[in-house]
Amino acid sequence: MNSDNKRVAICPGSFDPITLGHLNIIRRTAQIFDEVIVAVMLNATKTSPMFSIEERVDMVRRATMRYSNVRVDTSDILLAEYAREIPNSVIVKGLRAASDFDYEFQMNLINKKINPQLETMFLTASEKYTFLSSSVVREMAMYGADLTGLVPSELIAEIEEKAKQWRKN
Ligand code: ADP
Repeated sequence: MNSDNKRVAICPGSFDPITLGHLNIIRRTAQIFDEVIVAVMLNATKTSPMFSIEERVDMVRRATMRYSNVRVDTSDILLAEYAREIPNSVIVKGLRAASDFDYEFQMNLINKKINPQLETMFLTASEKYTFLSSSVVREMAMYGADLTGLVPSELIAEIEEKAKQWRKN
């Protein structure tokens, strides 16, 4: 335990961009833990990201502003190493489907090898967001589809604008 016995959850991801599925997990985690750190991982995206790290952080900040115990950070190191620096922390992730489970199980084993103290906990995705991912949002945006109900409403205009720029290139 750290000095003030605060229980800290780290919610990691690429958030390219943040979706209502992510936000649902962050909100539920914030109800359970004293503090939530949303860690925007620099190297998490395999392909070139749609949004820069600064844009992703800014969008996550605005989307989580109403939660007083949530803060946003970035990391360009391995998650297991990042978590080591934060006393009394656990990783919290969302689980959508069996495919998520296989990947997460493997990641958890690797993280445990690097940092044996580190625990990872999972919240099951809300039924209405089971099929929602950042890649679905990027694809929908590229086709000019309506993003209502997929991403925080205050971010829709800029995601649409970014997709418009990408279509031009
Ligand atoms: P994505 O898979 O959407 O590209 P990230 O890599 O940023 O997103 O994912 C970060 C975390 O958020 C992962 O633990 C992932 O399982 C979780 N997550 C992503 N989308 C959802 C969703 N719709 N419901 C629940 N959890 C989700």
